[in-house]
Amino acid sequence: MRIDLHAHSNASDGTDSPAELVAAAVAAGLDVVALTDHDTVSGHAEATAAVRALPAGSRLTLVPGAELSCHADGISLHLLAYLFDPAEPAFAQERELVRTDRFRRGRAVVERCRELGAPITWEQVERIAGTGSVGRPHIASALVEAGVVATVSDAFTADWLANGGRADVRKHETDPVEAVRLVRAAGGVPVFAHPGAVKRGRTVSDETIAGLAAAGLAALEVDHMDHDEEARAHLRGLAADLGLLTTGSSDYHGSRKTVRLGEHTTAPEVYEALLAQATGAAPVTA
Ligand code: AMP
Ligand code: FE
Ligand code: ZN
Ligand code: FE
Repeated sequence: MRIDLHAHSNASDGTDSPAELVAAAVAAGLDVVALTDHDTVSGHAEATAAVRALPAGSRLTLVPGAELSCHADGISLHLLAYLFDPAEPAFAQERELVRTDRFRRGRAVVERCRELGAPITWEQVERIAGTGSVGRPHIASALVEAGVVATVSDAFTADWLANGGRADVRKHETDPVEAVRLVRAAGGVPVFAHPGAVKRGRTVSDETIAGLAAAGLAALEVDHMDHDEEARAHLRGLAADLGLLTTGSSDYHGSRKTVRLGEHTTAPEVYEALLAQATGAAPVTA
């Protein structure tokens, strides 16, 4: 079984449409793929239809999810949520709040880039983002188009878009304890995404993670491209101490990142344990 529980489509900052992501998951030989766009479920319908349209005998299962933007102790972090009821009003309202503020913040980041001499426009970013939940990676692509930086990842430096960088502007982000409660109340399963991704900026303390565990966190995403061996070993130990499961996933973003679908995977017994906790939605099979 090959299970990848973190992937983005162009409903947020990935480059594949939800249907293309499903096709890519089949091509990568995955048994399970989770669609986890930032702060939105708008790709679920297309991905679900694509899975249902697969030929008989196809073995791909889709886990509908999202990745919620959170903020604690001045640090941004991401909470994956699986199999919640997308219509549950309290969590739906919070996603809407974050998505709406992404537009205000996106305009402010573009303004800041222009002040710093980068010839990009909001119209260009809107074209790149399309209907997707707009974020820094779309602005990074605009900076690449304008020849300001060579790659998307080169835009995530102190000069431009990195946390605390010259053109970084904060967006509304949910308190993670509140987010864990919202996900559980919507019947979903909350998992802390890349908790040790130091290359993205400061990471939260073990005490903060213990607080999330007490609030109902299910697992830590341990096997991730942004974690070195030392970070993984530490997170495995912490998860064992706190009674949390551990997952692995690619955090695939299509051509906006170099990682391949299925590059990191989750153990089947962990997947089964996560499924057993979900009451808000069911996985989608071919
Ligand atoms: P936003 O949600 O708009 O604040 O943008 C965060 C997104 O930017 C993350 O989900 C990643 O896709 C991307 N990102 C963050 N840090 C980096 C980095 N160092 N290199 C490349 N992409 C990054
Ligand atoms: Fe992203
Ligand atoms: Zn993330
Ligand atoms: Fe992600």
